[in-house]
Amino acid sequence: QAKREGVRFARFDRTTRSLSPQQLTLEADLHYALQRQELEVFYQPIYDAGNHRVSSVEALLRWNHPRLGRVSPAEFIPLAESSGLILTIGSWVIQQACRQLSLWHEHTPGLSVSVNLSARQFRHRDLVGVVRQSLEANGLPPDCLVLEITEGILVDVPDAEQVLHEFRQLGINISLDDFGTGYSSLSYLRRFPLTHLKIDKSFLEGLEEGGTNASIVRSVVTLAHSLGLHVTAEGIETQAQADYVHAVGCNNLQGYLLARPMPAQQCSELLRAASG
Ligand code: C2E
Ligand code: CA
Ligand code: CA
Ligand code: CA
Repeated sequence: QAKREGVRFARFDRTTRSLSPQQLTLEADLHYALQRQELEVFYQPIYDAGNHRVSSVEALLRWNHPRLGRVSPAEFIPLAESSGLILTIGSWVIQQACRQLSLWHEHTPGLSVSVNLSARQFRHRDLVGVVRQSLEANGLPPDCLVLEITEGILVDVPDAEQVLHEFRQLGINISLDDFGTGYSSLSYLRRFPLTHLKIDKSFLEGLEEGGTNASIVRSVVTLAHSLGLHVTAEGIETQAQADYVHAVGCNNLQGYLLARPMPAQQCSELLRAASG
């Protein structure tokens, strides 16, 4: 519920925002974070359920704050969105992820990268251009990029559908993140040109005992597959969860059990080891 409010706030004038003194300080610091090289993109491996190899990585932003240490994206992404800084920061993440992927392609050809997008970026005219240029500048095939969006974007951004069609025409993949946490979104699965669906980690609790979550996950996989969507289960922390989502046919697995988000260098080592 709180999350939803945040998305809405971003639409209004700055003066309607109510930020605590700590948040205002953090926002002021965020203005300089990029040029002071305090931001870093971590990568979390995503595994193919069939061959158990890394098929893609998700780019996850980190802020190494000089005084506060590592600040969580859950804290600073909302500030980046409400202040508009997400446009610059988000473009930087896209560029970083594409450059990194082109290096990884030297030893791990079919690897994909997933990049999270916020509503604010979606409302910006130039998003498609930024993405296309980043792919071209790094000589990447468009189908190795997955853009992760949330249901909030589909609801709040008037021309989300049009923008998504532009991405799909370029051959770029679109994943609906945190599926099941927002709205009753079954009609969105049909209406928007999606290629992937990520079942939110909140549905993995208690999977091993059966019950409601187990039924939901099984049904969502069936539904998604009938619509031709690839399904990723995120937040896998136990072997029992991995076994369950594997058994019901999830295509990809992501979570601490398999690998945590890590710096690019460490991810390079993991990929190299895996590519033999
Ligand atoms: P998200 O897109 O849903 O990303 C998944 C989050 O779950 C990440 O948190 C990841 O570190 C965490 N995670 C992965 N495996 C597990 C697990 O097994 N158990 C648990 N409990 N958590 C797991 P993180 O890195 O703190 O990012 C939080 C959120 O910040 C992301 O959620 C995303 O919404 C946002 N975010 C991160 N980077 C970016 C970015 O570059 N752009 C935008 N717009 N948002 C970003
Ligand atoms: Ca995500
Ligand atoms: Ca997610
Ligand atoms: Ca999330």
